[in-house]
This record gives sequence, C-alpha cells and structure tokens, in this order.
Amino acid sequence: SDDDRQEDCIFCRIVAGEVPSEKVYEDETVYAFKDANPKAAVHVLIVPRRHYASVAELAKADPDTLAHIVQVAQQIADQDFHGAYRLIFNTGEDAGQSVFHVHAHVLTGQVLPE
Ligand code: 5GP
Ligand code: ZN
Repeated sequence: SDDDRQEDCIFCRIVAGEVPSEKVYEDETVYAFKDANPKAAVHVLIVPRRHYASVAELAKADPDTLAHIVQVAQQIADQDFHGAYRLIFNTGEDAGQSVFHVHAHVLTGQVLPE
C-alpha cells in the first residue's frame, strides 16, 4: 500500500509503474520482472509489492508472501526450464545486496555453473 511505500526505492517505483520494467508475472502480492543485468539465460527478480528491506524482514512480517515467491519462482522455471532453477536472496551489503527492497533472484533457462 502507499503507506508502506519507500519514496526513494527503485523497486517500489517499478512496482508502481513509474520506472519501466519487463514484466514476467504479477498478482495482488508480488511483481516479477527481468533483471536489467542478467546473469543467466533467464534472470527474473520477484519482489513483494509491499516494501521490506530484506528476506529476514519479509519472513518475520509476511511468511505467506515469502512462500508465494518460492511458488512463483517454480512456475517460471516450469515454463522456461523443466522446473530447474536457482533462487538467491542477497542479504546485507557485504553479501552483495544493493537494492534494499527484498527481491528473489530466479536464475534459470540454462544449465547453471556451480
Ligand atoms: P542485489 O545486488 O541487490 O541482490 O540485486 C539487485 C539486482 O537488481 C541486480 O541484479 C541489478 O541488475 C538489478 N537492478 C537494479 N536496478 C534495476 C532496475 O532499475 N531495473 C531492473 N530491471 N533491474 C535492476
Ligand atoms: Zn521498496
């Protein structure tokens, strides 16, 4: 909702349609779009519409939406690559998190290197 919106958050702006993105999937609680700098043949980001800084915050506040994100990742991989995928939540700057609106990286569409 607007109440939970973070004004300077790029992913809040993408969810609101203020910044263009290549939509892959959307519903009432999540929005999925192509990563601008793909690291695999299919590299999708899935975000909750509501702003949470990290997967830890999301897990605590709204575990149903976290479970739903996993199900959406599975659906994307079922369509694009016989159900095989890698799901990554970078958590904390020192782990490579650069956008502090929780997002699942879904890497699929090819055999993934270790
Ligand atoms: P992190 O490093 O936080 O785990 O991942 C952030 C991801 O968001 C990066 O893979 C980066 O390419 C992607 N990204 C950052 N800004 C944008 C944007 O404006 N549009 C899209 N489609 N992806 C973005
Ligand atoms: Zn946000």
